Amino acid sequence: MSIQRPGAVPLNVGVLGGGALGLAVAYRLGQAGARVTVLEKDAEVGGLASSFEVGGAHLEKFYHHLFRSDTTITHLIQELGLGDKLVWLKPTTANLIKGKIYKMDPVRMLTHPILPLADRLRFFLGMAYLKLDPNYQRFEGQTAEEWIKRWMGQRVYEIVWRPLLESKFGEHYQKIAMPWLWSRVYCRSLALGYLRGGFYQLYTRLYERVCALGGDVQTSQTVERIEAMADGRVRVLVNGQSREFDRVICTLPTRLFMKLAVGLPEDYRRRYDWGDYHGAHCVVLSLKRPLTDVYWLSINDPGFPFLVLVEHANYVPVSDYGGERLVYLGNYLPMSDRRFSMSDQEILDWFLPYLAKINPAFDRSWVKRSWVFQAPFAQPIVTVDYHEHIPPHETPIPGLYLANMFQVYPQDRGQNYSIAMGFRVAEHVLKDPISFKVKVGQV
Ligand SMILES: Cc1cc2nc3c(=O)[nH]c(=O)nc-3n(C[C@H](O)[C@H](O)[C@H](O)COP(=O)(O)OP(=O)(O)OC[C@H]3O[C@@H](n4cnc5c(N)ncnc54)[C@H](O)[C@@H]3O)c2cc1C
Repeated sequence: MSIQRPGAVPLNVGVLGGGALGLAVAYRLGQAGARVTVLEKDAEVGGLASSFEVGGAHLEKFYHHLFRSDTTITHLIQELGLGDKLVWLKPTTANLIKGKIYKMDPVRMLTHPILPLADRLRFFLGMAYLKLDPNYQRFEGQTAEEWIKRWMGQRVYEIVWRPLLESKFGEHYQKIAMPWLWSRVYCRSLALGYLRGGFYQLYTRLYERVCALGGDVQTSQTVERIEAMADGRVRVLVNGQSREFDRVICTLPTRLFMKLAVGLPEDYRRRYDWGDYHGAHCVVLSLKRPLTDVYWLSINDPGFPFLVLVEHANYVPVSDYGGERLVYLGNYLPMSDRRFSMSDQEILDWFLPYLAKINPAFDRSWVKRSWVFQAPFAQPIVTVDYHEHIPPHETPIPGLYLANMFQVYPQDRGQNYSIAMGFRVAEHVLKDPISFKVKVGQV
């Protein structure tokens, strides 16, 4: 589909945010002939999936992998000529329970002494049911806690699920929607996909393609205000300067969009300016020695200052990073948590002694280098009523569309879903008859 009509100038589209979603929408619109400008606050593109340099390579600031069900991003990786770098590996995942590491795939769970046999069977059958049932609507209206306690039992809930829910959602863990948990099981695969050389390459390639199609990707551009213009266009205030577009697609989080957009009706705000979210906090360590033999270790023991340990070196060969053994210590937290305002040194002083509880041989001298990353708006809190408060892509301001990862449901947000949404919204904008009103009038 093309939006260029004989004699008409291309539609001038502003895309706010240069993460996976913004770049995906800009790429498809550019392919259809629109003149696209991406405005990104940070100095580089990629958003939550952006990277930093280490060992002559690029690593994501926050741990990232794909599932087999992530088909849109997989196809895009092929389309952009990066298919030979995508590998599917089966790294070990495990839970730390009462100071011991338990490998945690459903079959292994059947033999775990941590639960009585009857509970292990209930866990296994519950997982099998969720894995086989494609209809998440049947779980609508139920919390994950209710469903798990009823079908897998109280002990399975306390030992396996409650720590996972608490680590993602903190104090909200009892209100989480069962469809969200269904998606965590249904969409998951044992094989995890990684782009050798980093997802950085995907976003760099998208950036280059958008530019090659005549688009413009501008970084260090903070959107401060969005408003309707009398002639049907949309004005965006960026770094104090006014920019005008025929159409604008905002990929910023809904709560931020509500702050920036002027003139939204009160009933719209009441319904959609809603919900909580957590920020992400991640320490990355380069270690001299292996800490564990697992990739993903969920911390089910109380008192730890981090909730997951992701030993990237047990997933992707250290040779990809000039020999650096990289480990993440991750958290999702309310933005008011003190970890977001502590210095890197304070964080290390607090976190590092806990590594000896995982591997008693650990010593601080193992740490060669460290980094601390944080991001607000990293994890929506998907409560039972969440789906009723997801705004549509069309907003009350004509020509202004909202598309962001907070509209992903019931799946957990992920690069795949942002990219798929970006493609869908580009198609919608191209089909939307009002897309032509301004241009047709001008010809
Ligand atoms: C800890 C963690 C682990 C994750 N693990 C995985 C994983 O394993 N696999 C996976 O697929 N996904 C994972 N994700 C999720 C994935 O990173 C996101 O779903 C995806 O990157 C979202 O892309 P997006 O473009 O929708 O949003 P974002 O990446 O948030 O993009 C929004 C962009 O808008 C920009 N912006 C914000 N405010 C302004 C402003 N005022 N003006 C201009 N620009 C602005 C931001 O800088 C950002 O670049 C993880 C995320 C986190 C935090």
